[in-house]
Amino acid sequence: MNRAVDTDRRPFVLVWEVTRACDLACKHCRADARPNRHPDELTTAEGKALLDEAREFGEGQLVVLSGGDPLSRPDLFELVDYGVDRGLNVTLTPSGTSSLTPAVVDRLADAGLRRMALSVDGASAAAHDEFRGEDGSFADTVAAAEAARDAGVPLQINTTVCAETVDELPALADLVAELDAVLWSVFFLVPVGRGTVLDPVSPEAAERVMEWLAETSESAPFGVKTTEAPHYRRVAMQRRRDGGATPPDGPESDGVGRRTGVTAGDGFAFVSHTGEVFPSGFLPASAGNVREEGLVDCYRDAGLFRFLRDPDGLKGKCGACPFRRVCGGSRSRAFAYTGDPLASDPLCPYVPAGYDGPMPTGGRWEADA
Ligand code: SF4
Repeated sequence: MNRAVDTDRRPFVLVWEVTRACDLACKHCRADARPNRHPDELTTAEGKALLDEAREFGEGQLVVLSGGDPLSRPDLFELVDYGVDRGLNVTLTPSGTSSLTPAVVDRLADAGLRRMALSVDGASAAAHDEFRGEDGSFADTVAAAEAARDAGVPLQINTTVCAETVDELPALADLVAELDAVLWSVFFLVPVGRGTVLDPVSPEAAERVMEWLAETSESAPFGVKTTEAPHYRRVAMQRRRDGGATPPDGPESDGVGRRTGVTAGDGFAFVSHTGEVFPSGFLPASAGNVREEGLVDCYRDAGLFRFLRDPDGLKGKCGACPFRRVCGGSRSRAFAYTGDPLASDPLCPYVPAGYDGPMPTGGRWEADA
């Protein structure tokens, strides 16, 4: 991904969790979603003020309306219309439920929605619905994906990688292609919210998945990105290097002398349903609340965000790693396991040459592959 955006000044991706209400009960849910809306959710007026602030980052700022299920908000269309009218690139991550009808998708397309992201965590109805906690979710999701394609809304498929889903990945890749998705976003589980009851894959298994993803991406008709697994960029670089295409600027470059990707607080910001500004939805450490502090000021100037944008402030083997400027590890996972967002990412098995400091703890670091 081209990082033409100056991520010290603006996030490449701004996510607003418009609600935590959702009819599903997914096993991995970061938001620990509930059937009913929280009484302290940002109001319609506060949401519009937030979108106005997002516009201060610049024309075309990418804003992802997330949840919960955004369709649980009766003012969702009004918010999409408002954001698009303000010149924002508005995308949506609705839940795969019977509420997401073709008529709803058409209405969103008419509003100018730039992308719809749908979660698919199993390649069959049985596997997906078991993970999502709702019979019929797979059918609803596939129908919505087809509706998005018919309406001309680019489709993204999000998949969670954990012990329960990892064997589904090859069949899921086929499904992503069948659905004509433009992007497959593969999320490596961070144990927050309901995700604490799931087993992450081991670092060695994660490495094998990333190598497979890198290989798959070379011929797939869709793009591949990882979420909360920036070491995918290290794996891809090593793969290119081993293939003889040594990056000219050394291991801290993607080969053209620039950083790639975004990580928590560095090209990425998250506003919770009650207005808290987090570096990521998986790193729930608040830099302020949009009801009191400015979103733009929080992103640019809050100490938490500034620390997260400094790869030289990383600790442990991430701090000693020659790939820290293209990777840096998942700050969310480090925080989830250690309480320190600058600690090493326990999902990465790479050990920098000559490194003899402490190894990451937590998760399944000692687990077999
Ligand atoms: S050690 Fe840290 S910075 Fe280096 S590749 Fe692994 S996660 Fe990335």
